[in-house]
Amino acid sequence: MTKWYKIPLTINILNAIIKVYLERTRVTFGPRVFSQGVMTLKNRIETIVHKLKTRYETNNPFEIIDALGIELFRHPLGKRMGCYMLIQRSRCIFLNTGIENEYMERIVAAHELGHAILHPKINCCFLRNYTLYSKDTHEIEANKFAAELLLPDDIFLEYQGYTINQIAAYENVIPELIKLKS
Ligand SMILES: [Zn+2]
Repeated sequence: MTKWYKIPLTINILNAIIKVYLERTRVTFGPRVFSQGVMTLKNRIETIVHKLKTRYETNNPFEIIDALGIELFRHPLGKRMGCYMLIQRSRCIFLNTGIENEYMERIVAAHELGHAILHPKINCCFLRNYTLYSKDTHEIEANKFAAELLLPDDIFLEYQGYTINQIAAYENVIPELIKLKS
């Protein structure tokens, strides 16, 4: 009796279970894991920004920088619009004193705040054309962070029928940020 059960269980049934498991894994878990990976990366920044906005009741990067105890300096930086650096365990943001207006300064501050929050141990500089169109993951993430922070969630409903450039002009940001807003 025992022998009759043991043989089919260990060889045939077990093989069948493994086969079904592998097939199911391939069909159902495969695509799900993939889409979860993509979603996590995209939603991670949205979730972080949403929490910050709720906790500090503002989308002003300067107020959040202050509330988080991040050091902010204004300094001549040449071609760099801004920089983020971790100096002796202190998160430091540098803004170029030569930035043309308060709106651009707000964008650079939001971008650098993104670096300080998303990957605090990596130092980086904001070089206008390089940074805004960069394919570097950290730069893309910092730009995405700035877009989520500075722009309202219902922006595309609010501006139905407007071009990207028109929306950017109304919101006092650069068109690149509008494209990154989801
Ligand atoms: Zn950057």
